[in-house]
Amino acid sequence: MQRIIKPKAVLSRRKPIILSRQSLSTLSQQSHSSTSIQENDAFVSQMPPFDYTPPPYSGPSTEEILRKRQQYLSPAICHFYKKPLNLVDGKMQYLFDEKGRRYLDAFGGIATVCCGHCHPEVVDAIVNQTKRLQHSTVLYLNHAIADFAEALASKLPGDLKVVFFTNSGTEANELAMLLARLYTGYHDIISLRNSYHGNAAGTMGATAQSNYKFNVMQTGVHHALNPDQYRGIFGSDGPKYAKDVEDLITYGTCGCVAGFIAEAIQGVGGILELAPGYLPAVYSTIRKAGGLCIADEVQSGFARIGSHFWGFEGHGVVPDIVTMAKGIGNGIPIGAVVTTPEIANVLTRRNYFNTFGGNPMCTAGGLAVLRVIEKEKLQQNAFTVGSYLKERLTSLKGKHEIIGDVRGRGLMLGVELVQDRELKTPAKVETAHLMDEMKELGVLIGKGGFFGNVFRITPPLCFKKEDADYLVGVMDFVMSKM
Ligand code: PMP
Repeated sequence: MQRIIKPKAVLSRRKPIILSRQSLSTLSQQSHSSTSIQENDAFVSQMPPFDYTPPPYSGPSTEEILRKRQQYLSPAICHFYKKPLNLVDGKMQYLFDEKGRRYLDAFGGIATVCCGHCHPEVVDAIVNQTKRLQHSTVLYLNHAIADFAEALASKLPGDLKVVFFTNSGTEANELAMLLARLYTGYHDIISLRNSYHGNAAGTMGATAQSNYKFNVMQTGVHHALNPDQYRGIFGSDGPKYAKDVEDLITYGTCGCVAGFIAEAIQGVGGILELAPGYLPAVYSTIRKAGGLCIADEVQSGFARIGSHFWGFEGHGVVPDIVTMAKGIGNGIPIGAVVTTPEIANVLTRRNYFNTFGGNPMCTAGGLAVLRVIEKEKLQQNAFTVGSYLKERLTSLKGKHEIIGDVRGRGLMLGVELVQDRELKTPAKVETAHLMDEMKELGVLIGKGGFFGNVFRITPPLCFKKEDADYLVGVMDFVMSKM
């Protein structure tokens, strides 16, 4: 077992695994799809071969982009990596920088790219529709929105057959909460601590991580104990956590609520799967209190979890409202809310309108995404490759003391890093540092969790076993050097 060194010492004492100038220039001279990354003394492994060479890049330099970004974009936007990465091309599970260097994408634009970057069938569907009609609004008829709504409804159980299209996950959750409030006539909503549901007025209230909550009015949401199987007080006992929702309703509301919203696997919160038995118990409590159950499938939907198409299916529940975004469009800005005809009807009380929601370009792309997921059996692939990857990551835990937990399902996996396994002290600085090192070796992963100490692994669903092997090899190597 390896000893965990305190963050400062780690950073100052370690020899960084930055590729030498010479090896970098060798790499950029290689065919644009570099396949082998080696470090002087140790890491020798091949990124799986890939037969694609992006066109040469002649755009502005990384420095110039960074300068413009600093001058003209909000100071609130941040970037990964000490030396930010300029990505100019993407193909399936790979990304390319301005020098044509290839990276294995294990983050998928935050669990968004499901079919693969620039999947030709998705691109064709978008381009062909854009050439005919890009935008008209739902005030006119067009087949694209109707076709996609029909296909999407066919993927959902029971009476969940009415679709509203939005532009983002935030908008979808805002609408879901509105629907719940209108349908029930109640106001209070219960969400989970450590959840992320968006950043507009209502959804910032539902989000329960202080680093995403500004000090503005956010009323009517109560945050229940998180059924967190790693850090939660009841471990994996779902029904015990569910009791807290009963108490919140009894003591914190008039006894009735508008609804409950939860992700089946918290994404931003650090790939936390809700404890088994939690959702069935809470759904029953919420319905007794007159409320609706909302499943936020923005990250866990669209086959990502492998075992099921939707995250809620893994818990054996059927929600009243399902919200989605990210994977729905493989990268095009689209979101959706699906509910029952009866609930959907409440919006007829006033005008509800969204200028871009369901526009032909996005819905044509969305339909192509669904077809590709089915045709290329991406759910099965997420299951097979995801299970394999999880097993390999779990075996790394036996070797590296810094790994506190490996969790998730399919291609939605998390690796939580701690300085001390007993105390579970978040290894925040080490996480950022290791991510940087992995990038230098050509592997891009995400980061999350309330303490910023969880690797988020959410690649495109076309990720292969060989990609998983490369990722694990790189992670093992950089951890060994700590
Ligand atoms: N719900 C979940 C579970 C999310 O992860 C996110 C985005 N990270 C959102 C909602 C909000 O989606 P968007 O950023 O598209 O508004």
